[in-house]
Amino acid sequence: MPEGHTVHRLAMDHSQWFAGQQLGVFSPQGRFAEEAERLDGQTFLRAEAHGKHLFHYWSEGDISHIHLGLYGKFRKQKNPAAEPRGAVRMRLIGQTHTLDLNGPNQCELLDPPMREKLLARLGEDPLRDDADPEKVWLRMQKSRTAIGNLLLNQAVIAGIGNIYRAEILFITGICPDRPANQISQDEFQQIWDLSVDLLKTGVKYNRIITVDRDTLGKPLSRANARERTWIYKATICPRCDSDVYYWDLGNRTIYACQNCQT
Ligand SMILES: [Zn+2]
Repeated sequence: MPEGHTVHRLAMDHSQWFAGQQLGVFSPQGRFAEEAERLDGQTFLRAEAHGKHLFHYWSEGDISHIHLGLYGKFRKQKNPAAEPRGAVRMRLIGQTHTLDLNGPNQCELLDPPMREKLLARLGEDPLRDDADPEKVWLRMQKSRTAIGNLLLNQAVIAGIGNIYRAEILFITGICPDRPANQISQDEFQQIWDLSVDLLKTGVKYNRIITVDRDTLGKPLSRANARERTWIYKATICPRCDSDVYYWDLGNRTIYACQNCQT
């Protein structure tokens, strides 16, 4: 499942490609046909991300809401685009490019009150300027849930997925099973600051990179898949050479070093 950095990157890209243009909007697969007809010919104003949720804003006040889920994917091509491949839920045709959306978990139209309602259910997104870490800290202090579990809860902190949670807890030296209310304020600050930094790096490189340049010994852009992360799917701890343990936490596999994470 894409984590928040992917969705923020999509929002940036979509704004860049389409803002200010009247778009052709279609639903070749048909499941978004009525909505597409409503949007067709409207001007695309901008895109916005909140956690794993993507919003497109249109000139007549409509808002499309997209959640990719496990299988959703965007594909961009230069105009003229080829015939739709697979079940294309939504096709956007701009002046120079065409964008297809396949297999999203959600693709729907919202009005502003519906958007507000949805956002009210979402937690603070470290990539957003309006994020309020204090709210996350208050939730953590009241929760006995394992911190590894809480970090996946999109209603508390929006945008962190399975890979980032493992990496953040490894770098900060925190055992994923530790109850959230036993995280100190200092540790929380580290978790938050690191989330902001790592997600920003993710947006920049359009992939998850949690190692730093000094550790890597070369530019981050040259890191291969195995070098990009510390603990996720590792078998040996990169810090102490102990075995890495993995188990199910919040229905996803967590990786941790029992020696380095307390
Ligand atoms: Zn270790």
